[in-house]
Amino acid sequence: MTTETSATTSTKPLAGRVAVVTGASSGIGEASAEHLASLGAKVAVLARRADRLDDLAARITKSGGTALAVTVDVTDAAAVQAAADRVQAELGDADLLFNNAGVMLPAPIEELRADQWQRQIDLNISGLMNVVGAFTPQLVRAAGERGVADLINTSSSAARNLYPTFAVYAGTKAFVTHLSKHLRVELGPKKVRVSAIEPGIVGTELQSHVTDEGASAWLEGSKETIDWLQSEDIARTVGFIASLPLRVNLPQVFIMPTAQPS
Ligand code: NDP
Repeated sequence: MTTETSATTSTKPLAGRVAVVTGASSGIGEASAEHLASLGAKVAVLARRADRLDDLAARITKSGGTALAVTVDVTDAAAVQAAADRVQAELGDADLLFNNAGVMLPAPIEELRADQWQRQIDLNISGLMNVVGAFTPQLVRAAGERGVADLINTSSSAARNLYPTFAVYAGTKAFVTHLSKHLRVELGPKKVRVSAIEPGIVGTELQSHVTDEGASAWLEGSKETIDWLQSEDIARTVGFIASLPLRVNLPQVFIMPTAQPS
């Protein structure tokens, strides 16, 4: 049996791998960290809320996994570099990065919510880039040594669909999708598989940050006809992407609730 075959058929297909998950204190990131740990990866969990990260790390450890909680604001480039150095020192080079922290703040553009525009740009674009910058050297090194690494960025269905009042958020996610396609061309030859996941509505804390009444009402109303995705659905998708045979890369994964039209 080849190494590749055993890696893909094992019940712990990510054994020996080092995963980093940003936005791990809630929602998609939290569920993904737990799932990746259940698949055998050592997991470093990053976000700002230390108590939530400590609880998550304790749950993973109790289940027999390995977790490292790293409190960090990803909009602070120096702090992200320090976090990357700590991951490398304590777990070894990361070979799976789930670059997932983000915020969604829809509002009519004429309301000129420049504060919310900036927050989304700072986190969804600059924060995501800080993480790419700090961890890419580890991913490339790990891919060279182990044969593969994964860089999975969380984009959104908003990168491809049109939702009135979501223009700035959608713009940041279009950046994530397009960036991912370009990084794939650059890093694929170095055996780093780059993917963008583009989910439709997932029930998480994301909706609780929305201050615009119209957008909140639209989201709430959609529950009457749409069974929203759950964080675990995305977590399973992340695990699937990372467990595929080394030759297989899913560049874009568009994942929607069955009843969400667009
Ligand atoms: P949550 O609000 O539950 O999770 C967001 C995560 O980002 C939290 O862990 C939060 O932790 C972290 N975060 C926020 N700001 C920072 C920061 N400055 N530094 C570090 N971490 C930060 O929402 P989701 O799980 O839904 O969101 C995850 C990703 O999924 C986002 O990129 C979102 O855009 C995307 N997405 C979500 C969809 C949905 O419908 N839910 C649909 C499509 C995409 P903390 O506050 O502790 O720092």
